Amino acid sequence: MSKYSLVVPAYNEEKSIQLFYDAVVPMMDTLNEEYEMVFVNDGSKDATLDILRDLAAKDKRVKVCSFSRNFGQQAALLCGLRAASGDAIIAMDADLQDPPEVALQMIAKWKEGYEVVHGKRRKRKGETVFKKMTAFFYYRFMRKITGMEMPKDVGDFKLYDRKVVDAILSMGEHDRLLRAQVTWVGFKQTIIEFDRPERVAGETKYTLKKMIKLAEAGIFPNTDYTLTFPIKLGLLLGFMSVACFITFIVLTCCNIFFGGLTAWIFPTVSLVGSIILVCNGMANIHTSMIYKEVQNRPKYIVSEKYNFED
Ligand code: UDP
Ligand code: MG
Repeated sequence: MSKYSLVVPAYNEEKSIQLFYDAVVPMMDTLNEEYEMVFVNDGSKDATLDILRDLAAKDKRVKVCSFSRNFGQQAALLCGLRAASGDAIIAMDADLQDPPEVALQMIAKWKEGYEVVHGKRRKRKGETVFKKMTAFFYYRFMRKITGMEMPKDVGDFKLYDRKVVDAILSMGEHDRLLRAQVTWVGFKQTIIEFDRPERVAGETKYTLKKMIKLAEAGIFPNTDYTLTFPIKLGLLLGFMSVACFITFIVLTCCNIFFGGLTAWIFPTVSLVGSIILVCNGMANIHTSMIYKEVQNRPKYIVSEKYNFED
């Protein structure tokens, strides 16, 4: 028999928590298997923690971690993954936008042998055009700039096998976007599509500032393009200025007038610019290497072993 953990970050969700519990418990009970619900109270200022405490007192399957202040959904998810003890772990929002019946479909996929099951949003109800547009472009931009095959339009609603959680937890970096990390660790992954309903109660907790922070946490730890770009630009500029110098020298030798002394200003300035950019880019490569050391990601992840003692 397997054990499942639901990991649920909650920030000011006093209106949703009880509804979430009432919807999820009967659904999970149909499995007739062991499960726990790990709620992480992310520094809520409303009655979220009181409601969670009451639930925990009545139901031993309810586990609660409470943050000292608001650290953000990614930190709450990380805490939940650390605290979860299941063989399969499902991360879900507290507002029932991640339908519990889809969680059951994820479990069915896990039983088929998949180690990560992504919930992909086909439609997103009750969200602003701005949010839908930024999400649409973000996933596509992320894939381009990082070169990772991050599935499009998937959020944090996912099932992770225990092995995948252990791999993610072995990554030492501070700023995390779990949906990018889960792509990086690999394993056997699949997607379930679903129509995302509106929030059951309350309002979105994602301010523009939080959205920008989330976007940064996805891009910067997963690409050094931003650091190596100056070196590419510098080499291009250098190539252009050298080509210009050669042309001007040939024109001068052939006694062809091409603008006099002032014409030499462009290749000279761009050559100086090129040298600065290349030097800057080389320093950036060092920064990138130091960053990778600090991130402390494992060099590789072993998925399976055969004929070893343990
Ligand atoms: N959340 C959190 N900390 C935050 C913001 C959000 O734990 O700082 C939780 C929130 O309670 C919900 C989930 O993360 O369970 C997703 O947040 P929300 O529903 O506001 O995001 P949206 O669905 O609008 O993108
Ligand atoms: Mg939501």
